[in-house]
Amino acid sequence: MQTESISIHTTVTTASQLADLDLENLQFGKVFADHMLEVDFKDGAWQQPRILPYGPIELSPATAALHYGQAMFEGMKAYKTPEGKVVLFRPQDNWARMNKSAVRLCMPEIPEDIFMDGLKQLVALDADWVPQRPGYSLYIRPFMFGSEGLLGVRPATEYKFIIFCSPASGYYAEPVRVKIEEHYTRAVEGGFGFAKAAGNYGGSLLPAKLAHEEGYHQIIWTDGREHNYIEESGTMNVMFVIDGTLVTPALSTSILAGITRDSVLQLARDWGVPVEERRIKVQEIADAYKAGKLQDAFGTGTAATIAHIKSITFRGEEMMLPPVADRTLSNKIATELDNIRYGLSPDPHGWVVPVV
Ligand SMILES: *Cc1c(COP(=O)(O)O)cnc(C)c1O
Repeated sequence: MQTESISIHTTVTTASQLADLDLENLQFGKVFADHMLEVDFKDGAWQQPRILPYGPIELSPATAALHYGQAMFEGMKAYKTPEGKVVLFRPQDNWARMNKSAVRLCMPEIPEDIFMDGLKQLVALDADWVPQRPGYSLYIRPFMFGSEGLLGVRPATEYKFIIFCSPASGYYAEPVRVKIEEHYTRAVEGGFGFAKAAGNYGGSLLPAKLAHEEGYHQIIWTDGREHNYIEESGTMNVMFVIDGTLVTPALSTSILAGITRDSVLQLARDWGVPVEERRIKVQEIADAYKAGKLQDAFGTGTAATIAHIKSITFRGEEMMLPPVADRTLSNKIATELDNIRYGLSPDPHGWVVPVV
């Protein structure tokens, strides 16, 4: 069934930057595609969506989000298949998650047609910005914030929902050294760690910087109450293979429900790999390591899909993981997810959504 898509007022740029796009020297998040989608919420309703040239927005110094943190975002990618078709990966899940974040932060939910049609029409207009190279993609950043100029502490009555895009290179990250964080906390039960809230990121920068200075690429966050249980790795979900079983922390109010996480678990289940979503004690990882049963550890997220962990340091002891080439399951999953996105493998779960 073909449903009518909503009408979006579109102003096409007269100064495209596409000719200056240098795929060889692409730095993540530094170059932006020509257009953006902008939708205002005011008088209790979402207003007419607009697509316009990418550019600055004007804000009051009293803008609510800048003071009281009503700000959140999503992260997703568009891919170009070898035949030149532009596709999205599970965009409905980003829309649903955005609204979960919105509810937690007392912000208005975004109607599905505004999100999906706005997203598709924007990416279709900037389709030439989706690089047609293995591993490359167009990173998409939907976000929303309280835009009302207001110093009273209450939910804003005006919001902006914006989507803009940035071409991203084939992300091959070196395996990372991580440390178990037992002092700082990313999120606590009852807080808003499950929401993709700007504030979660603001609070994680200092601990990440300190870890960097100690020679670690990334932090493994532990629970805020006891620091005994594993939560996430940096801004990714984290998974382990222990004695042939794929194990990851169960979702909670302090863990973000990654779409990559869900996809990885689904593939593993499809393949008959034992999967456990449960609480994981740091001590369990240390014990598994000592027993020679810790076969893999990796982060999952849209940016890198799978980020292999090279070593985990816990109370000064560095646990060395097996060479990446030996990590059968995580390598197989990374390849399969790429193949599904680029149309090279079947898509039994209907994850891939064509844009044009
Ligand atoms: C975005 C994010 C993830 C990964 O989510 P994906 O949907 O897989 O990209 C994991 N943890 C945190 C804290 C995040 O913000």
